[in-house]
Amino acid sequence: MTRQALDELKRQIPLMTYLETQDWRPQRPLSRGRWMGLCPLHQDHNPSFLVDPHHNLFYCYGCGHGGDVIRFAELYHQVKFPQALALLLEWRRTAPLLDEAARFYQTQLWCHSAALTYLQQRGINSRELIEHMRIGYAPGGCLRRQLTGLGYSLSALRQAGLVTAAGRDALSERIVFPLEGNLYGRSLTPSPAPHRFLPGSKGGLYGWAQARCCATVILVEGLFDYAALWEAGFRNVTCSLGTHLNARQIHQLCDAPRTVYLTFDADRNGSGQHAAHRLGQTLRLAGVSVRIVALPDGHDPNSFFAADGDAPQYQALLEGAAP
Ligand SMILES: [Zn+2]
Repeated sequence: MTRQALDELKRQIPLMTYLETQDWRPQRPLSRGRWMGLCPLHQDHNPSFLVDPHHNLFYCYGCGHGGDVIRFAELYHQVKFPQALALLLEWRRTAPLLDEAARFYQTQLWCHSAALTYLQQRGINSRELIEHMRIGYAPGGCLRRQLTGLGYSLSALRQAGLVTAAGRDALSERIVFPLEGNLYGRSLTPSPAPHRFLPGSKGGLYGWAQARCCATVILVEGLFDYAALWEAGFRNVTCSLGTHLNARQIHQLCDAPRTVYLTFDADRNGSGQHAAHRLGQTLRLAGVSVRIVALPDGHDPNSFFAADGDAPQYQALLEGAAP
């Protein structure tokens, strides 16, 4: 890539916008339009991460890292320069489109009582949680008009997987959760296939920007589990979207000394516990301290809270978790 192409890429991906899509939040304004916030690159408790949106540069007074958006992508995703470029190019192609789609689905949620009832049945009641997770609903049939109206081409929608070859909304009649560079759709009924992602990677750990600052982290496999724990007041929770973690997610869990509480589903056939033990071994070899939380038989964290479990009971399970 030429120097000119690199400058063009950096111009098209403002550092501030990129940071915000990685869940970074500016906390304190400084002079000349600069901002301070918690550093996403180390365990930061007092805002020490400075962002200069005009020059598209960052600097952390805690860990000493600084640079442009490419340098940030290298450090944050723990990849080398060419991979960081590839991630940014992919981001430039899909992020604004997925963000628009997610925003549209969010507005639709409040117009569809079947979707709100479903969320209620899964224990998601608070508006604060719905907004925190940016939960939406895809009623089907109107996304295409909305996005083409904003200037996106039908082929871009197809390429992102938002619309099928036949022109239908791919996440039709699903609750939609925005992920890093993807969307996850949960159907309101067990059939058809309840889980659907758009093509491409499921991304890193969900909610990691917040959880990574904690010395102990609760890892769950599903977004509804994440929601239940968040609603119960646990903020050190993250989600791997399935029991099989990708390399990036493993990397994230191992990027600093911490204790990870694995809370996979207590399936009656034992598959969740089996997956937890296997992952526990991998993490321990990487120097992470691991506890495996035993939920009552047949439960996942979501159903535990839906069946009247409460935060102190869950805390007791954490404290009793086997190393
Ligand atoms: Zn830092």
